Amino acid sequence: MKKFTFLLLQFLFIQFTAKAQDTIPVIFHIVHSGQSVGTGSNLAQARLVSQLQILNADYAGTGYGSVNAPSVWHPANTQIVFMPALYDPQGNLLVEPGIDRINYVSKGWQNPGSFSNTSMFMNYIDNTLKHQGNWPPSLYCNIWVTDAGSSVNLMGWGSLPSNSGLPWATPAWNNADTLSSGIWIWNNVVGNTGSTSNPYNLGRTATHETGHWLGLMHPVIGCPTDSSYCADLPHIRSGTTSSYMACNSTFPDTAHSCPLDTNGTMFMNFMNTYICSDTDIYMFTTCQGNAMRQALHTSPQRSPLLSSNVYRLHTNSVQQLSEIKFEIYPNPATDKLIINAATTAYSLRITDVLGKLVYAEKNLSGKKEIATSGWMPGVYMVYIQAGEKTHTAKVLKQ
Ligand SMILES: [Zn+2]
Repeated sequence: MKKFTFLLLQFLFIQFTAKAQDTIPVIFHIVHSGQSVGTGSNLAQARLVSQLQILNADYAGTGYGSVNAPSVWHPANTQIVFMPALYDPQGNLLVEPGIDRINYVSKGWQNPGSFSNTSMFMNYIDNTLKHQGNWPPSLYCNIWVTDAGSSVNLMGWGSLPSNSGLPWATPAWNNADTLSSGIWIWNNVVGNTGSTSNPYNLGRTATHETGHWLGLMHPVIGCPTDSSYCADLPHIRSGTTSSYMACNSTFPDTAHSCPLDTNGTMFMNFMNTYICSDTDIYMFTTCQGNAMRQALHTSPQRSPLLSSNVYRLHTNSVQQLSEIKFEIYPNPATDKLIINAATTAYSLRITDVLGKLVYAEKNLSGKKEIATSGWMPGVYMVYIQAGEKTHTAKVLKQ
């Protein structure tokens, strides 16, 4: 029966594989005690940008170390993309895309670093922070980033998706509280810049926990003849070591695998236990990628995200500008922004969403190219003055 279910699932996976990529809007809730941005647990924007880049590379199968995969295994391109939210739930543009900074003192929340008991800490995150601070889980993937006491002994966890249809999901998954949907990551292991905690300094904790959030389990421990979990992820022989497997082993690692898995354990899989260093894990399997997409399309706690527009820039500037024949492109911009006026003389001002001037020039005509590679990612306002008229456009820098 399990085998039949598995074959049916493989068929379903093919349907999902045929579709275009899926985009998940992300909001990082950065919990701090009033430190300035970039200090302590109030992580710098660059660090969260690096975390999103890591997630996208890892889910595309192109992250750090992926070229080292043994030729028998192929890091999956899951076709899942993580994008920073541009809007809060009230529709306001975020000053920093994908980032919500929260002073726990002003919220009346206990210091997250003050807990010494793991279950009390998890209860506090789930039932205080997420319940009071989660943005609608139907529109955002909520990632909570806080400090934690050393005796809590956790680097992250992700809530499991309800009713995913994945054959390894247990009935308990369906009881998952939607309001506490999301992921928690210890601030010291976020991203790959700043004071990350070696050897968890490549942002792989978030890669692993989003895997759980999308329905993945750790590799199966034990050598049964049948299992519903991904057939392309080798089992681990039980009782081989205290951690059941080796990290950074030499292929093939048959010392920890089951007799039929002649290629050994997949010691570089993202869903291995957290004890493997970030440099040592660099792939999902094809089945894992397809399973995550199934959960994303099927679970009622995940599928609404596929129609969330909070990561798209809402703009009506094109119409306004077309009246006086201005073009602004590309939008979103990466390394340059081009303003093109067919005939009109104009002046140009560009500010960030807080109004801080980042560029100004007068007496322009025709095409103007502006280097944007040094700009922080975010939304910028472009003000064009031509004669008596001023026009405004929003531009996204990625
Ligand atoms: Zn895990």
